[in-house]
Amino acid sequence: MSRFIRHCTGWRRLYSSVGASDIDHFKSILPPAAILSTVSPSALPSAELDPYNNDWMGKYHGSATTVLRPKTTQQVSDIVRWCASRNIAIVPQGGNTGLVGGSVPLHDELIVSLANMNTVRSFDPVSGILVADAGCILQSLTDYVAPHNHIMPIDLGAKGSCHIGGNVATNAGGLRLLRYGSLHGSVLGLEVVLPDGTILDQLTTLRKDNTGYDLKQLFIGAEGTLGIITAVSVLTPPSPQASNNVILALPHFDNVLPLYKTVKRQLSEILSAFEFIDRTAYDLAVKHGQGRALSDEDVDGAACFVLVETSGGRREHDEEKLTDLLTSLLEADSPLINTGVLSQNPAQFSSLWALREGVTEAVSKEGKAYKYDISIPLASFKDVVDATREHLRSKGLLGDHAVKHVLGYGHVGDGNLHLNIIAAAYTQEIQDALEPFVYELVASYRGSISAEHGIGAMKTHALHYSKNDVSIEWMKKIKALFDPLGIMNPGKVLE
Ligand SMILES: Cc1cc2nc3c(=O)[nH]c(=O)nc-3n(C[C@H](O)[C@H](O)[C@H](O)COP(=O)(O)OP(=O)(O)OC[C@H]3O[C@@H](n4cnc5c(N)ncnc54)[C@H](O)[C@@H]3O)c2cc1C
Repeated sequence: MSRFIRHCTGWRRLYSSVGASDIDHFKSILPPAAILSTVSPSALPSAELDPYNNDWMGKYHGSATTVLRPKTTQQVSDIVRWCASRNIAIVPQGGNTGLVGGSVPLHDELIVSLANMNTVRSFDPVSGILVADAGCILQSLTDYVAPHNHIMPIDLGAKGSCHIGGNVATNAGGLRLLRYGSLHGSVLGLEVVLPDGTILDQLTTLRKDNTGYDLKQLFIGAEGTLGIITAVSVLTPPSPQASNNVILALPHFDNVLPLYKTVKRQLSEILSAFEFIDRTAYDLAVKHGQGRALSDEDVDGAACFVLVETSGGRREHDEEKLTDLLTSLLEADSPLINTGVLSQNPAQFSSLWALREGVTEAVSKEGKAYKYDISIPLASFKDVVDATREHLRSKGLLGDHAVKHVLGYGHVGDGNLHLNIIAAAYTQEIQDALEPFVYELVASYRGSISAEHGIGAMKTHALHYSKNDVSIEWMKKIKALFDPLGIMNPGKVLE
């Protein structure tokens, strides 16, 4: 029989807190250095757990008393089996860069950090298949495969901290999705510790395996609610022989869509990214030192910017195609762009990317961000940003004391807009003004309330804007099947 208590986010099952006897048991599984706890007899100061209890944005705060840092799959299994027997709820944690509050506890759940599981298990340079522990940092995997002339199929601004396991658990999209598709395609196999401690070994390295239900797909994007991913098998593409990028300054947002069509037509197979930042996002990236600012002349009259990347097989061929594109854009009777700044060397290539990749970081330095990561028709990107700004203005919430900026940036090629509202502080008044307003707006375009960041704790109440009742009912049945005790990341994804 389960008892339920009421708390701020609804009804929840009453779980056991971690106690001294649990710590004693964990000591039989892990070395002392892998147990961080404020529970006696370890009794660390609670500040030691702050990096695990607080999320990247400083918006979500847990009160876990204990963090465990296992090194092996068997240790994860032993921990989970004990927790299941004691009804202790668990939050799996990767690099803690998630943006929807999924990686920190709602209460005092046990945190299982995968940070110590950071070994590459194998890499086949012929097939490009990499098998790695879930706690490997994305950048370190990129560095690992680079000498073999391969790249990771995923890239994102948090690559220096996020884990491959976290990427899979969130089904992260990022900057390469346009070219290499989603992790649902490039992940070949997973090893997962299920909520009763069973190890599910589906760590295949086969490209083709058509043998019934593809269970691994359920864990991709499950945000730690169905089990703990301990290893990932992923297909890494060969490195492009040549990569170039150019930043294009546009006089109006209305030009983005025709520009995208033109760029796709002219660059065809070498187009690998088409990323959008509005003027506010660009100005904040520059203000907070992300990349090198373009010249005054280049940004004069620009309402927004598009970063185009090409990745191809022959440098001269790709450069010629890009130069032809730029020439035709600038010489058109009614030009879609004001200017284009083409990178000339690797340092400039990185600097142009930094202007786009650095927006998330710049936003967090500017203030407290309300982040909406939405999929909507490309033509509506600007309308959504403008409508949100006007809505906040009508509520008297625009201004330095409340909402400082409303801005948009994102992966245009994937129809994914990051709508960010930067405020001086997180307040209930702003929250109430934004929700359900933003979700209703997205639903009016038949869009998705989460293009790539997931649901986490932030959007459980809003899931119905993007999933119908039948879908939610079956999600709940799947959750109950895998995790009948409800101990795996409770309060995330599903209410
Ligand atoms: C600067 C910046 C840029 C970003 N850019 C992008 C972007 O372009 N695209 C994008 O999609 N996201 C982006 N993000 C969001 C975030 O980086 C991704 O969601 C990332 O995949 C999270 O990985 P993580 O290891 O930090 O996971 P965490 O934040 O630790 O966890 C995220 C969720 O996954 C679960 N989880 C983590 N590890 C495991 C595991 N091993 N097993 C089971 N569950 C697990 C957690 O419980 C939680 O629910 C960005 C974030 C930042 C800070």
